[in-house]
Amino acid sequence: MDFPKPNIILSRCINIEAVRYDGGITNNEFAKILGNYVNYIPVCPEVSIGLGVPRDPIVIIKENNSYRLYQPKTELDLTSRMEEFSDEFLDSLREIDGFLLRSKSPSCGVSGTKIFDNPYASKPIEEGKGIFAKKVLEKFGYLAVEDELRLKNIEIMNHFLIKVFAFTELRETLNSLSSIKELINFHQRYKYLLMAYSQKILRTLGRVIAGIDGSKLQEIVFIYREEFYKAFSNIPSRGSHINVSQHIFGYFSKYLSNSEKERFFKLLDNYRKGLIHTTDLIRALRDYNLRYNNNYLTTQRYLNPYPEEFLLYKN
Ligand code: SF4
Repeated sequence: MDFPKPNIILSRCINIEAVRYDGGITNNEFAKILGNYVNYIPVCPEVSIGLGVPRDPIVIIKENNSYRLYQPKTELDLTSRMEEFSDEFLDSLREIDGFLLRSKSPSCGVSGTKIFDNPYASKPIEEGKGIFAKKVLEKFGYLAVEDELRLKNIEIMNHFLIKVFAFTELRETLNSLSSIKELINFHQRYKYLLMAYSQKILRTLGRVIAGIDGSKLQEIVFIYREEFYKAFSNIPSRGSHINVSQHIFGYFSKYLSNSEKERFFKLLDNYRKGLIHTTDLIRALRDYNLRYNNNYLTTQRYLNPYPEEFLLYKN
């Protein structure tokens, strides 16, 4: 199955350019491989607001429940410059499918950013997000927004990639949509993936494309897009993946001996216990489908959610 090419905003210091405050670069293998499948749009918010490389460190200060971006050495409060840049930059974006940002940064951090109660404190009072990342989440929180550190968790990586490639395919399908039939085909390909994420929304979307309420194509597209985004808000439970796997396994079980069936149920049990990842489960189902070549399942995004290289990826 082919994959559309997502447009991803990337922190410029990840693999692209040595723009970190200390003049360094963050080498990241996952982002490097992903670069073979996506268009990166690099941005360094700190350089964009006029700070040089290298530069004096900046920190986040929590003051009366509001977060300030501050450079202790120069005593500059950079909060409004960063907020204005973020608003302008994010408002200018079109056709974006996800964000891969640098962890712990007072600007880009989606997680692990140290927050202090004064500019000169040595110990943080909490961990949170960078100012730019916060704006990203406010405006694009429905998209896949992650940092390179969180993506070391295979389940988070799986969820990130599923969202990125599903939303890109949705965007491209809707951009060139000429008839409801194309949307129905799209929906059919996503049946099992949607079932894993939200059975309720799968049913809603089924009703939407059937045009049961008499909506016109434009209205259908609008509702479909909103509901589809909503479906992927959270990582599904292991129980949900087990349910879908059992449905898919039903296509092959009649060909299998009892010991082969037992092997599959042992695999599900290991998955339930958290001993293997969702990517391992998908790979096992793909192997069955390679063996029995079910045409309908071959079209299912559940078995081909993103480029195969990532199904084998281990951090
Ligand atoms: S984390 Fe963000 S602001 Fe900091 S150097 Fe990297 S791209 Fe620039």
